[in-house]
Amino acid sequence: MGLSAARKIEVVTTVAELRARIAEWRAEGLTVGLVPTMGALHEGHMSLFRQAKMMADKVVVSVFVNPTQFGPNEDFDAYPRKLEEDCFKAKMAGASLVFAPAVEDMYPKGNATLVDVTGPIVDCLCGLARPGHFRGVATVVSKLLLMVLPDVAIFGEKDYQQLMVIRRMVTDLAIPVRIEGAPIHREVDGLALSSRNAYLSDSERANANRLYKSLWQAGQDILGGKRVQDALDWVADELVRLGFGRIDYLELRDAETLAEMDRLDRPARLFAAVFMGKTRLIDNLPIEPRPQ
Ligand code: AMP
Repeated sequence: MGLSAARKIEVVTTVAELRARIAEWRAEGLTVGLVPTMGALHEGHMSLFRQAKMMADKVVVSVFVNPTQFGPNEDFDAYPRKLEEDCFKAKMAGASLVFAPAVEDMYPKGNATLVDVTGPIVDCLCGLARPGHFRGVATVVSKLLLMVLPDVAIFGEKDYQQLMVIRRMVTDLAIPVRIEGAPIHREVDGLALSSRNAYLSDSERANANRLYKSLWQAGQDILGGKRVQDALDWVADELVRLGFGRIDYLELRDAETLAEMDRLDRPARLFAAVFMGKTRLIDNLPIEPRPQ
């Protein structure tokens, strides 16, 4: 297959076109998977498309930089936009259709409806560091789910809190879709792939993987019996020493409820959000107590 043939994935921009294509698939008895993205696709996204393709006959990839999930001083304008490359990557990883709506399609004139998940799952981590972020995420994801009505939708554990917020929302609103998590895809040196890694300078990039390495080391130390707070203090010192900037959070939390934990007595996740230069990096990893 030549490059030009491979690049030709179907792209639709309106909800009407999207629904028409999906109706055709449904008439043929085909199942549908959805992977919502903000584009600037990388191997992490592509691993989600491949997973979706294993679970459904047709995979819809949405590419939409959602303004409502960015804070006023965040990178909405600077966020990378690369639709042509994205279409190629979506096609190569098994997707059937790219849905790339304009802001006016997702937020029609006069729109006045928001979806707000509340409670302990949002009152921590990125929910505190980025006020309103999850309201924007829940709003756009609920719209996408209602537009596509997929059998399954896939979300990466890279944004673990987001996955939990969406599970909560889908349960509470009884949206008939299966939500699946996908493991974090990393560079060979450990750095979690992210569209925002493109902001890193060469020297920042060379050190950025130390976030994962120090989280991993802290995880090993906690499993080996080190006090949780001592392990977290060690990571914080290490990050400062390695040239990282502001730490938004560095916490051990329950893998299900996201309740904070000061000792490892049940499955947990270690969460971090930290700046490298102007780039905000997030990462997390599972830590499961060893069976006694
Ligand atoms: P984004 O385009 O950053 O909104 O991400 C779209 C989806 O891809 C979300 O469900 C993310 O969690 C997921 N994702 C982004 N980076 C990774 C990664 N490195 N590994 C796995 N999933 C990822």
